[in-house]
Amino acid sequence: MAISTNSDVKVPDSRSLGIDDAYGPFINGAFQPVRGDTLDAVAPATGDLLSKISRGDAQDIDEAVAAASAAFPAWRALSYEERSALLIRFADALTENAERLAAIDALDTGRRLFETRLDYQLAASQYRYFAGAVLTHEGMGRPMPGGYMIAKREPLGVCGQIIPWNVPAIMTSFKLAPALAAGNTVVLKPDENASISTMEAAKLAAEIFPAGVINVVPGRGAEAGAALTAHPDVDKLAFTGSTEVGRLVGTAAAKRLIPATLELGGKSPNIVFPDIDDVDAVADNVLYGAMWHNGQVCFGGTRVFVHDDIYDRFMPRLIERAESLTVGGPFDDTARLTCLVSEKQATRVLGYIDIGKNEGAKLLTGGERVTVEGNEQGYFIQPTIFEATNDMRIAQEEIFGPVICVIRWNDVETLVQEANDTQFGLAAGIYTRDLKNAMDTADRLQAGSVWINSYANLVPGLPFGGYKDSGLGREFSHEALNMYSQLKAVAVQYEVGAPWFSQTYNG
Ligand code: NAD
Repeated sequence: MAISTNSDVKVPDSRSLGIDDAYGPFINGAFQPVRGDTLDAVAPATGDLLSKISRGDAQDIDEAVAAASAAFPAWRALSYEERSALLIRFADALTENAERLAAIDALDTGRRLFETRLDYQLAASQYRYFAGAVLTHEGMGRPMPGGYMIAKREPLGVCGQIIPWNVPAIMTSFKLAPALAAGNTVVLKPDENASISTMEAAKLAAEIFPAGVINVVPGRGAEAGAALTAHPDVDKLAFTGSTEVGRLVGTAAAKRLIPATLELGGKSPNIVFPDIDDVDAVADNVLYGAMWHNGQVCFGGTRVFVHDDIYDRFMPRLIERAESLTVGGPFDDTARLTCLVSEKQATRVLGYIDIGKNEGAKLLTGGERVTVEGNEQGYFIQPTIFEATNDMRIAQEEIFGPVICVIRWNDVETLVQEANDTQFGLAAGIYTRDLKNAMDTADRLQAGSVWINSYANLVPGLPFGGYKDSGLGREFSHEALNMYSQLKAVAVQYEVGAPWFSQTYNG
């Protein structure tokens, strides 16, 4: 692994990016004054204070839900075409501001600018996808004897949405785009580690959407988040984050019998068959699948199953390529890995590296924190590869950092059994030249997404979500519109029929 020596790195100043000194909650089309406590938004690489973020409480949530409830009738009454046009305008506004917003996310999360720029492309494409998809989100209708039957799709009402810190623009788009397209209004709570770009996106939304359609209340999970999940006037919950908190959100929804979409953690298998052609290309894709976003990604392919017959050819290439990744600051073009989002996250990752060593996993490369000049506050961790067995804690628990567990295999039955032997079921990868083998294996994997020969192949329109403890429901597709609507069945008889029920009595 190389540490960047690039001296030509320009880090933007937070004020030049338009970051405000402080952000109050965005309710009913306007930013409210900050009252009470705030949370510090700190750049993890440098420790610089970027802004102060309102620490939302139950009163803020109450006001935001009231605004969303009041805005709902007019918003749902807009035609699909009108809502679609506003989503396109929002996508355009995000695209026009993408460079600035991407720099804000790089400062605020410590991820590299190259990645956060891509986030905005994907986010804008989400709004465009749902602006189009909703135009074809038809219900069903057909004639019946003497009349017509209709199943109409109707919005649910006010959606309470909670997102994590790892990819704020993408998470916001996954939540807002389908909910708004389907005719719902929204109260969104961003993560306490990465709220700024969502607050800035709210400024853009204020110019486009009617007041109250989008409300954003930042704050702590146990405060603003819990108040949102428990609010009696919220009609649907949507959450992305840890499985632990997902259970709380799901329980809150169950208590009130409202629907919940949950996108939770993962520990995804990435399977290398011995017939692969290009060992280097597969090694590169495996690294990308696990180290992208510094491994802070729910669908990371962190359990890499390598067949015995190719192990000795594949592993040196994987290790060599991992060691060639440059670690540097978020604005350094030469960097492939940057710093983790917070000290808390780094402590978790370094703790798991210790656990791996103590439980007998073989450390093949990495495993240490490193310092990057000019970013001394940042928690930079070397790309780390262990040889492990599937029953070890490092192979079973979500680490959420740049750590791969390689597991050897030699028969397909054991492979499938081990790949599925985890609480999670978010994603899986398969590399092979034999497509029949790939499809047969895909059928047997308990995962919401299976990527064959290209990990993390996120295509808008393909549903995304988890099996087992990785979640409930799907995003990223038409299926999300179903999750943000309910069906009303209308049976229309063209005229009232002759009496028949009370005939005997009358007769
Ligand atoms: P987290 O669950 O701690 O926090 C996520 C969000 O939930 C934050 O906004 C937080 O403030 C809020 N929250 C925390 N406690 C809450 C409570 N009691 N009530 C209501 N809201 C509460 O997760 P994290 O550590 O911030 O994020 C990492 C996790 O998210 C990982 O497990 C990762 O796999 C998962 N994740 C999943 C996806 C996906 O699409 N499946 C995407 C990104 C991250």
